Amino acid sequence: MIQIPENPHQFAPEQIKRMLQTTESGLTPKRAEELLQVFGKNELPDPKKKSFWYILTRQVNNVMVYILLLAALISFLTGHRVDVFVILAIVLLNIAIGFIQEYKAENAVQALKGLLVPQCSVIRDGKLLTIPSKELVPGDVMRLSEGDLIPADGILFQSQDARTMEASLTGESVPVEKTTEAGPADSPIGDRTNMVWKGTYVSGGSALAWVVATGSSTQLGTIARSLKAIPKKPSNFQIKSNKLARQMAILSICSAIMLFLVGYFFQKIPIDELLLISLAALVSAIPEGLPAVLSIVLAIGSYRMSKKNAIIREIAATESLGSVSTIVTDKTGTLTQNSMTIKKLWQAGGSDVYVSGEGWERSGEFSGDKADLAALAPLLEIAAHCQQASLSVNEKGQIQVTGDPTEAAFAVLAEKAGLGKHLPVVQEIPFSTVDKFRSTVVEKLGVNVRFIIGAPEKLLEKSAQSQGKDGISELSDKQRYTIKKKLEDWSKGGFRVLALAFQTADAATTGDFTDQEWVFCGLAAMVDPPRPEVFEAVNACHLAGIRVIMATGDHSQTALAIGKEVGIVLPGRERVLTGSELQQLSEQEFARAIQEVDVFSRLSPLMKVSIAESLQAQGELVAMTGDGVNDAPALRQANVGVSMGIMGTDVAREASLVVLADDNFASIVSAVEQGRIVFNNARRTSFFLITTNFAEIITLIVAVGLGYAMPLTATQILWINLITDGFCDKALATERGTGKELTAPPIKSHENIINREIIPFLVLNTFLMASMAMLAFHLYLPEGIEKARTVVFIVLAFSQLFNVFNMRNLKGSAFKIGLFSNKWVNYALIVSITIQVLIIEVPALAGIFKFQPISLWEFLGWAAISSLVFWVNELYKLIAKSYETGFSSSKS
Ligand code: ADP
Ligand code: MG
Repeated sequence: MIQIPENPHQFAPEQIKRMLQTTESGLTPKRAEELLQVFGKNELPDPKKKSFWYILTRQVNNVMVYILLLAALISFLTGHRVDVFVILAIVLLNIAIGFIQEYKAENAVQALKGLLVPQCSVIRDGKLLTIPSKELVPGDVMRLSEGDLIPADGILFQSQDARTMEASLTGESVPVEKTTEAGPADSPIGDRTNMVWKGTYVSGGSALAWVVATGSSTQLGTIARSLKAIPKKPSNFQIKSNKLARQMAILSICSAIMLFLVGYFFQKIPIDELLLISLAALVSAIPEGLPAVLSIVLAIGSYRMSKKNAIIREIAATESLGSVSTIVTDKTGTLTQNSMTIKKLWQAGGSDVYVSGEGWERSGEFSGDKADLAALAPLLEIAAHCQQASLSVNEKGQIQVTGDPTEAAFAVLAEKAGLGKHLPVVQEIPFSTVDKFRSTVVEKLGVNVRFIIGAPEKLLEKSAQSQGKDGISELSDKQRYTIKKKLEDWSKGGFRVLALAFQTADAATTGDFTDQEWVFCGLAAMVDPPRPEVFEAVNACHLAGIRVIMATGDHSQTALAIGKEVGIVLPGRERVLTGSELQQLSEQEFARAIQEVDVFSRLSPLMKVSIAESLQAQGELVAMTGDGVNDAPALRQANVGVSMGIMGTDVAREASLVVLADDNFASIVSAVEQGRIVFNNARRTSFFLITTNFAEIITLIVAVGLGYAMPLTATQILWINLITDGFCDKALATERGTGKELTAPPIKSHENIINREIIPFLVLNTFLMASMAMLAFHLYLPEGIEKARTVVFIVLAFSQLFNVFNMRNLKGSAFKIGLFSNKWVNYALIVSITIQVLIIEVPALAGIFKFQPISLWEFLGWAAISSLVFWVNELYKLIAKSYETGFSSSKS
């Protein structure tokens, strides 16, 4: 078996290679499979996952259960044997329902995590593969590049200027240079420069490393074991729902006490019975199901978001999305398709050369002036080498791109010219958002030459010479002017323009590139059409009161052109500011500029942070997209950081709350819509719980206050509560919204779940339920108290069920969204009604709850009367609506 050395950083690569029995081209897949059996998966145990037992004990160890047990004890002491069993059965049912729900919600959360399996690049058998990080084994060759999260501990055997951020492990806040040099055995972790650590990330350069430790054996694993989970600060939604739970608990305790006092002073009900009733009322009024329902609301919301390609990393973000008031988005790939095609080429002093062919199609013609065509060779050579994209054809015959689409466009261009990578590649320096260029060093005629592709301004600034038809010459001011003019022209036409340049190494050293001697070669114009769905999505944002700001690294004119095309730039606001222009503004000017301008170009990642901060200071709730290593601070600063699933780096994903599976702007918008539905569903279910519970307890208080006997027994109260709170509130949590979510302004981030809107519902429902129940009670009392209670039970149970329809659409008629359009509500109603009917009609069950037989017609009659709760609410909504529209039309 292989030997994993202790302190592997003290050995040279050769020694490590022998000890791990591996090579530079990696393990064979078969060997990797064997090692996986031995060393296990490269995973840390997930402390966040709630276990079966944890969820179960939470249900049992619960105030509600204690109150119910107390009620059971009182029943036992006062000789109500049957009630003891009923209450215990209710306890068990409560636990079971709570458990199933929470377990399901937890599984949903886990399933969401499964959507974001971390992947890594390895070399096995000489082939570069992407595999799930958990399948890494010691001896594997990791290929690490900028933005990668390092998946395991490793020893470097190749480093191209690799730097890593180890703050998460050592607290060191600057990048650490990585080499292949061994060090003394006892050097501290932070000084082991030939090692990379799981959980840290590559901030620049690239490297190859052998895995020496995986899973819990890594440094991170060791620390994780010794650390207790750090308590997280509660999310906005948690704060809101805690507040809600407190409000409801206070309400229920007060009303239970009131019931007790009224019963004690007005009615002289025996104290044991009164205690029991008050406890039952307390249990039914306490929203014991609320935390579970709210977490279900969130889980369902995030599940639906994932269906729409927005994967939620922190479940609480689901609700924040509903409050987003400004979206700051980047351009390439998010607003546009990222399927780049180079359409035009140009060399200083020449005229445009046109390239035909659409999309990734690999054939096309070059047309233009003969002399210009002949002079393209240097440009095409750079295009062929300075890119790391590969194109392949899948089974369906479609061309697929691996790597950066910008680079793929150059690969396609080279193929159209019949050119491949014919020079030996010495080094690749990948694109960085800070530098805004990438380069490849090749060996040409015995010397090293560096090919560079990137942002034209950047390349122009660095170049001292230019390559034209007639060879290389000094770059004159006049030439600079023509180049800028061309760039401006093409950009205004909506083209994404990149420049190409090269640099020859100092002949004497063949390795040293001084920074001055760049040779500017020309420009390439590519089209990157907007995604077709974006225009509508931007429009939807504007209707929904959400501002959309474009923050791009691209050229101003290109940004403006795309901005107009997708509707971000509205007539009269055709302005764009660059990062450096922003930099020169005072704080106040900056704040003004952020309000007045919708397109920001040539931005540095740090400037994105300032934009987010400024917006937040103005009271906006900001969603911001980003994809690179340097975007991480901005993603954290924003209220909802959104990263890219396809083009993004691991680091950006780690820093964000939402990952877009399709990189598409429209997905953010549908996530915002779902976020609003989530908030409304939280409100719906809470309104339902409060209106029904409140009406029920008021009925009891009124009855006793008027000198009647208790209209329900303790067990009957508990049962109604179990059924209505048990099923209907969960069903309401699945509502799909009214389709009008995006026509209202954003939900204010501090808006409470309970607001004034509940008052009419509360008043109406309480009044109706209490008066109908009192009427029934009064009418049937002559037939005996048990019969009267049976009818009151029917009235209360059914009016609560009918109330579900009121809550399905808080602002309009339930018919508007289709009375039976939510299948979960339908199921919940069918189950609840069946249980209620059985419990009254099956003599054995009726006996337990002390129900008296009642004729079918009476049953149906009282159920129908209970539906008043629904009709009166519909009427109220109709009146409220006509008042509202009357009001707004008189205003206009
Ligand atoms: P965007 O907001 O358009 O995604 P980026 O920050 O990704 O902007 O890129 C900024 C600029 O860097 C681009 O306009 C382009 O000039 C250049 N650039 C982007 N990707 C590459 C690449 N792969 N190779 C070379 N240059 C690139
Ligand atoms: Mg980009």
